[in-house]
Amino acid sequence: MCPLVDSYGRKINYLRLSVTDRCNFRCMYCLPEDGIPKVDHHDILSYEELLLLACSVVPLGIEKIRVTGGEPLVRNGIVRFLSDLSKIPGLRQLVLTTNGALLEEMAQRLREAGVQRLNISLDSLRPDTFASITRCGRLEKVLAGIRAAEEAGFPIKINVVAMRGVNDEEIVDFAEWTLEKPYAVRFIEYMPTRGEEIWQSRVISGEAILARIKERFPLQPVVRGEMAGPSRDYKIPGAAGSIGVITPISGHFCEECNRIRVTSQGMAKNCLFADSETDLKPLLREGNVEKLQHFLKRVVIAKPGKHLISYGNNNHAPFDMSRVGG
Ligand code: SAM
Ligand code: SF4
Repeated sequence: MCPLVDSYGRKINYLRLSVTDRCNFRCMYCLPEDGIPKVDHHDILSYEELLLLACSVVPLGIEKIRVTGGEPLVRNGIVRFLSDLSKIPGLRQLVLTTNGALLEEMAQRLREAGVQRLNISLDSLRPDTFASITRCGRLEKVLAGIRAAEEAGFPIKINVVAMRGVNDEEIVDFAEWTLEKPYAVRFIEYMPTRGEEIWQSRVISGEAILARIKERFPLQPVVRGEMAGPSRDYKIPGAAGSIGVITPISGHFCEECNRIRVTSQGMAKNCLFADSETDLKPLLREGNVEKLQHFLKRVVIAKPGKHLISYGNNNHAPFDMSRVGG
């Protein structure tokens, strides 16, 4: 079968699959405080439909699937679904992004289900700041979840959205954390997904983040592995873990983009900041794999060369990241 290649010659081998838009947190940059309108159960893809989608894309060259949300671990039956996904022949990597709140109870079962790696979002190591960013999260619970994940044998990446005036005082603390913890801590530039007027004042560029760390610790670059994501990684010499920066605003990684996204409602997105989406739900409900694959190829061909968001420009329609999955 002809692989997924876009009109710029980029090979698409990575699917980010959102399984729910619900969440047990209300992070200030992701969801409004009182949540978003509840989506009718019928409008969310069933596990059968999600599996059909995954089984249809792997023969097209998708080698890595990241399950995300909303918070994927709040959806009933998620462990069984992940176990089914992990058995798809040809799928090389099954990974999950989570806020970590339910990991203490679930980490071991996720490991047994065949999840290979976890990305855990954690924006603060201070209980008060953590509570105010997530609006309803408890730091202690997430830290217990991270420990459980480590005990279950997961390689762990920690995602920190760096925000000026919110958690930037902790950049060096997170770096120091990697001296002992074998985690890959990655700082992500704050993105204007919800179109807030003050977004520019929140952004701290990847360069500025690294500069703050270098005032305290030397950093040496880490060689990129196969299927490495957009993070530029470094290590404090002798540290157990590593430090990375992901720079969607100050330094596009669009040229290397290898991903497509599908929301929990079955909308395919060929770029995080694309305003248009393709509804795959009718095809999934019809069960027509050939037509579905044909549509996916069209979605990939139409993938834009790059997004146009930069520090000086935010030209996309606002959207809730919890719907798209990050
Ligand atoms: N609930 C899970 C979690 O928080 O890890 C998975 C979904 S969440 C939408 C995926 C990632 O998107 C998280 O790491 C989150 O920090 C990131 N994210 C959400 N909104 C963002 C924004 N405006 N700028 C940068 N990162 C954002
Ligand atoms: Fe929930 Fe993740 Fe969004 Fe936070 S970033 S509100 S944990 S979906």
